[in-house]
Amino acid sequence: MSLYRMDTLMRQARNKGICLGAFECWDSLNVQMIAKASDFCGIPVIFQASPVEYNTMGGPDALADIVNFFVKKYDIDAALHLDHGSELKHVAECAENGFSSVMLDASSKVFEENVRLSAAAAEIAHGNGISLEAELGHVSGGDGGAGESALTVPAEVVEFVRRTHVDCLAVSIGTIHGEYRGDPKLHLDLLAEIASLTDVPLVLHGGSGTPIDQLHAAIRLGIAKINICTDIHKAFLAGIEEAKTDRTPSVPGNYYIPACEMMFRKTVEMIKLFSEIK
Ligand SMILES: [Zn+2]
Repeated sequence: MSLYRMDTLMRQARNKGICLGAFECWDSLNVQMIAKASDFCGIPVIFQASPVEYNTMGGPDALADIVNFFVKKYDIDAALHLDHGSELKHVAECAENGFSSVMLDASSKVFEENVRLSAAAAEIAHGNGISLEAELGHVSGGDGGAGESALTVPAEVVEFVRRTHVDCLAVSIGTIHGEYRGDPKLHLDLLAEIASLTDVPLVLHGGSGTPIDQLHAAIRLGIAKINICTDIHKAFLAGIEEAKTDRTPSVPGNYYIPACEMMFRKTVEMIKLFSEIK
């Protein structure tokens, strides 16, 4: 068991009619819980981090070492993916430090600039034998996407895939990063149209808080990876908040053991949600 290209795992998942969870990593505790949840469910998992997160952990090499350690320890199939690289240097530093996949997010730029940057990122990724995710349309909110959301335009999909050689495509069909303000409603007709135009596995950002029936409908239409950050981070923080009420700060485990337990349970819940499609 080891790290695989993310597109390989996504194609395998799609062939089985399931979807993989891609979970944001911010420290070794949460990496361990993601690995443990993957082992518990018997389903591959995607570890991912944006530059802010992996730099907080000591750099892309530090995260890669931690992920590899737990992938071996729990004997799981996984990918390690750069989430929302905003510059080509992020793509290069992850490609050269053990990641098996990268994302270059130029989705807030105009189409031609998105094509140019994504194609350059694909060249770096493929030169290192790893996969590239790019985004067409723009999912707003959080650190992952500034400004207003813009839905993916189907007419641009074929040209974008052909000119960039992207391996996985993030689409904008009504999700947002972080927490929703109103009721989320995915544009499933739009997703169906996009899926009919390309064989490239599709990614849904901003999965946290989206109703289950809408996620399952999206998975049935071809979404093979759903990004989760807010939901597992909220579970981790809730564990700490609960511990604060009655435990002494002199024993760090008093805080982090319940936080890890809550994060583990939430991660298991999400993996099952994405792989037990009703
Ligand atoms: Zn995102």
